[in-house]
Amino acid sequence: MEDERKTPEMRAQMTDVERLRHSTAHVLATAILKIWPEAQFAAGPPVDNGFYYDVDLPHRISPDDFEKIEAEMKKEIKANHPFERMEVSRHEALELGKKGRLAALTDRDQPSKFKLDIIENIPTDEKISLYRNGDFIDLCAGAHVMRTGNIGAFRLTSVASAYYKDDEKNPQLQRVYGTAFKTKKELDEHFAMLEEAKKRDHRKLGKELEIYIIDEDVGPGLPLWLPRGAAIIEELEKLAKETEFAAGYQRVRTVNIARERLYKKSGHLPYYAESMFPPMELSEDVEAIKRDELTREESDIASTVQRSNSSTKYYLKAMNCPHHHKLFAAVPRSYRDLPLRLAEYGFCHRYEQSGELFGLMRVRSMQMNDAHLYMTPEQFGAEFNAVNEMYLNYFKLFGLDKYLMRFSTHDPTKLGQKFVDESELWKQTEEMTRRVLKDSGINYVEVPNEAAFYGPKIDVQVWSVIGREFTIATNQVDFAQPRRLNLRYKDRDNVDKVPLCIHRAPLGTHERFIGFLIEHYAGNFPLWLSPEQVRILTIGDESQLLDYSREILNELRRHQVRAEIDASSDKINGKIQRAEQMKVHTMFVIGKRDMEANAVSVRVHGKGNLGAKPRREVMADILRSIKERRSE
Ligand SMILES: [Zn+2]
Ligand SMILES: [Zn+2]
Repeated sequence: MEDERKTPEMRAQMTDVERLRHSTAHVLATAILKIWPEAQFAAGPPVDNGFYYDVDLPHRISPDDFEKIEAEMKKEIKANHPFERMEVSRHEALELGKKGRLAALTDRDQPSKFKLDIIENIPTDEKISLYRNGDFIDLCAGAHVMRTGNIGAFRLTSVASAYYKDDEKNPQLQRVYGTAFKTKKELDEHFAMLEEAKKRDHRKLGKELEIYIIDEDVGPGLPLWLPRGAAIIEELEKLAKETEFAAGYQRVRTVNIARERLYKKSGHLPYYAESMFPPMELSEDVEAIKRDELTREESDIASTVQRSNSSTKYYLKAMNCPHHHKLFAAVPRSYRDLPLRLAEYGFCHRYEQSGELFGLMRVRSMQMNDAHLYMTPEQFGAEFNAVNEMYLNYFKLFGLDKYLMRFSTHDPTKLGQKFVDESELWKQTEEMTRRVLKDSGINYVEVPNEAAFYGPKIDVQVWSVIGREFTIATNQVDFAQPRRLNLRYKDRDNVDKVPLCIHRAPLGTHERFIGFLIEHYAGNFPLWLSPEQVRILTIGDESQLLDYSREILNELRRHQVRAEIDASSDKINGKIQRAEQMKVHTMFVIGKRDMEANAVSVRVHGKGNLGAKPRREVMADILRSIKERRSE
């Protein structure tokens, strides 16, 4: 953002469309000044999907004003003024600001107060530049398109209040949002996508399709899964278990709480404390674990329970890692045991701020497709590659054509605060990771200063079919925790070594991944994932027909197909409509003629009536499609 004083280098990295949108913000300011010359402007950066400009103005701008403002903007674009850059001295810039000439069309009675403040915060060694389009002059580092006429298509979208520099101690301003594209076609597509996204919103579909609820009595951010949601969960777990088994993973089971000391050893406390639920304080039997190892007779003799004077804190588990690390350490390990891959769909609880909670995307309780891979440094490349391959296979299965791996690295100036103080290990592991990413030709970008506290990480961003972006999974390299928890293996030369660890969760959490899938498929899940795979609809309620239908139902269920029957006396059209509304994948419509021919009439959601087919053939098709997890 502009008020964070983006460096000139970062400015130069603005993408073409960001440049276009930022230039549109200048045009927006120009138009507002033509209508309200007293307007004072603060920052006007490009943001995801658009731009804004913060303005201080007695008149309260509302969407009713947009037409008038847009008309002025169009005039400015039609005039095709060049964006002219002027470099000035600090003194010149301050003089212009005092005359009210910055972010203005003329000199004014009032100084350009926010621009003066921004100048004060520009480092003394940095050049100060102004940009002019027509009469409008703004303090700005750039970058812009060549001329106002290069702005192809734009629209103002909303107005909100915002504090100057987003700090509530500062005055409140009006933030006018808009978006711009090179062409009208792209602009229209963007709004069509937003419209479609609204229809696909997982919170709306999650309710309509009876997938999950969030209940007032249970609490915010704590989703409960209805049978239809649980069915999707079961399928995802089956997929993960099969995939991981084939890749040599072993499954473990851990608990949901642990003593404070574990998270202190792992380093999650204090670094991660504010993301954890507050602890439970228990006064506890200090000998409990020791006594558990006695024989029954010894235990009877030592029956006095020893309570400690002080209490012990227990935390809800926010990460599965420390628990898995304990399982690694529980058995003496040699290099021959490595790589060791421990997997669990583990529960985690995190204390997200209530303002951050959002449907299934931001929750306080989650179940994660987790695994921890322990290895020697020589094994790192192959393991890391195999993990990436698993990601790519999943992307293919779910039809995700567009993805990006964001490789987050550490900032050496923040060692000991934001990042564990292990300078050399940071360098080594980041270098290894970078090499694997480069060699495998995966689509990635590197982002400094965003690593996890114990090592570099890779966030996987995917785009749904309608182009919405989601971060669903992370993949982390960890050299700090194994050391802190004293994990060891005996190397070839019988020397104790610390293993490297990879944390990975390709399917993310059930919550976020299913939230994503609902929007990706618009609730029209492929057969294998569909909460209700088949619904049998009888034409009429004659007893013979019902017997035949129940026989088919039982056969489906014997083959683990999620099937239901609608044997009500309603008209068939009503039954079809109900099934379509719930997005049931396949409907078997069964009438007297079907029964006599030992057949079923098949109807597929979204495809309509496929006609009558022999029962055996239909059954075989369904089982094959499920088994192969076809995208149909
Ligand atoms: Zn600018
Ligand atoms: Zn982990």
